Formats: sequence, C-alpha cells, structure tokens
Amino acid sequence: MLSAAQLTGRKDSHVLPIEELGIQLHPLTAQAFLALKAMAADDGIELEAVSAFRTFNTQREIWNAKYRGDRPLYDVDGVELEHSVLNKSELVTTILRWSALPGASRHHWGTDLDIIDRAAVPEGYRVRLMKDEFASDGVFWKLGDWLDSRLSQTDFYRPYMGSGDGIQSEPWHLSFAPVSVQALQSMTIAILEEALADSDVLGLDTISAQLPEIFSQYVLNVSDPP
Ligand SMILES: [Zn+2]
Repeated sequence: MLSAAQLTGRKDSHVLPIEELGIQLHPLTAQAFLALKAMAADDGIELEAVSAFRTFNTQREIWNAKYRGDRPLYDVDGVELEHSVLNKSELVTTILRWSALPGASRHHWGTDLDIIDRAAVPEGYRVRLMKDEFASDGVFWKLGDWLDSRLSQTDFYRPYMGSGDGIQSEPWHLSFAPVSVQALQSMTIAILEEALADSDVLGLDTISAQLPEIFSQYVLNVSDPP
C-alpha cells in the first residue's frame, strides 16, 4: 500500500532508479516493463519510456509553467490556445485536459509511463506526444497498433482512452494494473487537499473551490483495466 505522501509524489521511497532506462519506477512495474520491452523488441518495436515517475514538485513546475503561459495550452483538438483570453477557471480546465493536477498525477505512483517507439522516430524529429502521432499516418501508428493487439496479454493497460469531459485520450500512457488499481482506490479528496495546502500551485483558490468535481472528472474518470 502506498502512503499519502507516496501517492501524491511528495516521497519517492516507493520507486527505484532503473539505470539502464534512465527513469524511476515502482520495482514491480520496472520488472514488468523490462519484460514488455523485450516482447516489443521481438516485434521490431523499440519501447522507450520518455516519462515515468514524477515528483509533486516536477508536476507543480509543469502546472505553473502552463498557468503562467510559459508552456503552450491546447484545446480538445490539440489546437494551441491564446493564454491571455482565458479566465482563471478556463485556464484550470484547459490545463487539466492535458496535465494532471500536482498530487493527482498517476506518474507519482511509479506505476505509469509515457512510451514511444524509438525505432520509428526519424532523425531530427521532436516527439510531442500528441494524438496525431498515433493516427494511421502518424509516426507511432505501428506502436499503437501493437499495443492494441498485445497489451491485453500483459498486466499493463491504458487508463486514458476516453475523451469527452475528462482527460483527453493518451494512447502513449501505460499503467501497471497490479499496483495502480490499488493506488487509485487509496486516493481521496482529503489526501489531495493535504498535498495541495501551502504548495505554491498556481490557481489554488480556483482549484480548491472545485476540488470534488476535479477529483471525479480527472482522477477517478479513467478507463478500467480489462
Ligand atoms: Zn502520462
């Protein structure tokens, strides 16, 4: 069982550095990911985790940069939005579609990773992790297709495959169910509230006023493992 501090990325005692991958993961996730990587390699896919465990502070930097307009903001279709036209509430909603609230990221658990097929990346191409890269003419189409057919034979699944009101579809985001299902069950609004208190997360007044809605729409509202 992960503690409240581990669930919200304020402690990293539940993850280990995986030297050969240059990332940190929960030990059980690491073992399973290395097996997944070997399975993919047999099919000509070079799985690489471009993001794995993230601390609360790292997520806060991502969040605050978007809130300040130092990082681009996108609408549901992935079209860049003008920062200055959004009010506080719109700003919070816009960021939440693509980035988790600090303390509420599944990347805090060490069970979730963002992956690419390194072998499919052309020389000089900058990976963006956008939906179009997984479309039929996208650079990661083959990876998406492979995940569609093989992931169900593993303990990994993709929690962000929906669209609509919550988090946008993220076909690159994998989760290790044997640990993450329990982590999600352990998460509560109170745990999140405690992590956010005195945290320097920008927009906190707006966030706090709608925390129960944010919790159900962006934390609980994920696809179930098969
Ligand atoms: Zn992710």
